[in-house]
Amino acid sequence: MPPLVFHPIYSQLDLPVRHRFPIEKYVGIHDALVGLGVSEAHFRRPDALKPSTISSIYDPNYIGQLCSGELSPKAMRRIGFPWSQQLVERTLTAAGGTVLTSSLALEHGKALNLTGGYHHAFANFGSGFCMINDLYLAALNMLQAKNIDRVLIFDCDVHQGDGTAKLAENNEAIYTVSIHGEKNFPYRKQASNLDFGLAKATEDDEFLSTVEQAWHMAMTYFQPDAVIYDAGVDIHVDDDLGHLHISTDGVLQRDRFVFEQCEKLGIPVAAVIGGGYQRDIDALVKVHLQLFKAAGAYT
Ligand SMILES: [Zn+2]
Repeated sequence: MPPLVFHPIYSQLDLPVRHRFPIEKYVGIHDALVGLGVSEAHFRRPDALKPSTISSIYDPNYIGQLCSGELSPKAMRRIGFPWSQQLVERTLTAAGGTVLTSSLALEHGKALNLTGGYHHAFANFGSGFCMINDLYLAALNMLQAKNIDRVLIFDCDVHQGDGTAKLAENNEAIYTVSIHGEKNFPYRKQASNLDFGLAKATEDDEFLSTVEQAWHMAMTYFQPDAVIYDAGVDIHVDDDLGHLHISTDGVLQRDRFVFEQCEKLGIPVAAVIGGGYQRDIDALVKVHLQLFKAAGAYT
């Protein structure tokens, strides 16, 4: 069974009533996995990243102001959360979780984080519920390993991975692929190495063939040594923000395809759950569980 990374703080954030962010889903996925027979002891608990370790990668002024609560009201509105110490701690722990997941993937072949995919975070500002880009930090972490020279970030969340594309644009060791809804946030997109913008109401067949095409192009052009996979489920037909028409089985097929390809090619893969915004948390958890099913985290 692949290592799973979780911290209770993933779901600990006081938000205004009816806030659009489904903060309860993380512990909901954890509890559902325990209900399916995953032992509590199987979950690895990450440490929060130290701001000093990311200041050299990020704009240190941004990190300083984020941590001290000195970002402007406008900058916080772009992030979409009210500032709190809890928000900072959660953000640093979630990013620490994806970095830990990337190390565990190199060790075990695959590993999964029960949060992650904060792909709208740029070097000097946050956006769309994202403050620190865990995908980019995890890619840099993997590149520290001596046999890893090329990391693919394969982003299948419905929103374009704009922050990741921008952060990695001058790093030839990182290749970014984004498959997303064309007419969806972010409306001003950045250039990934490969971008696939899908029309509203795209269904399973077209979606899955796009995923396969994107994957094979990335394998041909880039030949990665490791993969970071953003398995956002805001592609689902019932998602409140997605506008695509992907079924629960379509999500499972997508996730199975990525894991099977990685296994076949002997490429380690670190997966994160990404976005998913159904207001019905139980229904949302069921869709996120497809990733864990595909990874063999439960039978
Ligand atoms: Zn998303």
